[in-house]
Amino acid sequence: MVFAMALEEYKRKRRFEETPEPPPKLQKKTEHRFVVQKHDATRLHYDFRLELDGVLKSWAVPKGPSLDPGDKRLAVEVEDHPVDYGSFEGTIPKGQYGGGSVLLWDRGTWSPIGDAREGLRRGNLKFELHGKKLQGAWALIRIRGRGEEEAKKNWLLIKEREPGTRASRPGDILTERPESVRSGKTIEQVGGKTWKSSRPSAPASKAKATSAASGPDALPGSRRAPLPRWIPPQLATLASAAPSGEAWIHEIK
Ligand code: MN
Repeated sequence: MVFAMALEEYKRKRRFEETPEPPPKLQKKTEHRFVVQKHDATRLHYDFRLELDGVLKSWAVPKGPSLDPGDKRLAVEVEDHPVDYGSFEGTIPKGQYGGGSVLLWDRGTWSPIGDAREGLRRGNLKFELHGKKLQGAWALIRIRGRGEEEAKKNWLLIKEREPGTRASRPGDILTERPESVRSGKTIEQVGGKTWKSSRPSAPASKAKATSAASGPDALPGSRRAPLPRWIPPQLATLASAAPSGEAWIHEIK
């Protein structure tokens, strides 16, 4: 029954006569593909997806993946997506759920380390990635929180330290390799517009400084929001200080 229900939430949130996103089709022959999509939605973020049991298990990562094992990136679990979503690049129209441009930032295959289903259940999923930009051992670790809903949905995405490697700090893969692995385009080019910067690394403009705190341009650093209560103090420095939660990342734009 979990199987049949897998894409219900995906379906419920979208109007397929209006969005170019793929329909909620369950894949019969399941493989272990993975994809990372850069998504300029309500808030710019990266969607991290692992194929399992005919769907893409999905997390929204506000700050994107980091190659530095010292970085713990907040990853908010979102609804399963159809496997066909893994080749989607384009623009979700305004007024639709998750409206904004989607760029295929990385893709490849993944191999679970141990039992992936059990890992998901227990909140400790270890795996290897074989992508163009992301490789090696990674982990998704669920964060315990106070709210029951939040406790189940918030994870940390962490690059595992490779045995035998020196502890040198890797560069920022997000700024070094911003392009699509499919088209070579940037997110601005996917959107086909003169891009209004909403990246954390971009210098804050005067206009931005006066925009509403909850607006789409809200940035970590420029305007620090209080941490959600569910983040325990010892993790407060690990997780992003930006407001989190699926609703804030994927709203109707
Ligand atoms: Mn997204």
